Amino acid sequence: MSAAGSGVRRCAICRRPVDARWRPFCSKRCADIDLGRWLGETYRIPAEDAPGDEMSDDGGQAEDDVPPRS
Ligand SMILES: [Zn+2]
Repeated sequence: MSAAGSGVRRCAICRRPVDARWRPFCSKRCADIDLGRWLGETYRIPAEDAPGDEMSDDGGQAEDDVPPRS
């Protein structure tokens, strides 16, 4: 890949010219999209690492164990 253009960067999401306010993206929308991806991967890592002790799909333990309510 050759950097065509003088200092003109392209948005990594939609490849439009980057807006200085939203670098390295062209708009807030693309920045949000990238942030969403980043967070999605971040949350996925601990989710895979954890065996799922607390949030087990069907443990049956949560039904009998009534949490104390004030
Ligand atoms: Zn964009």
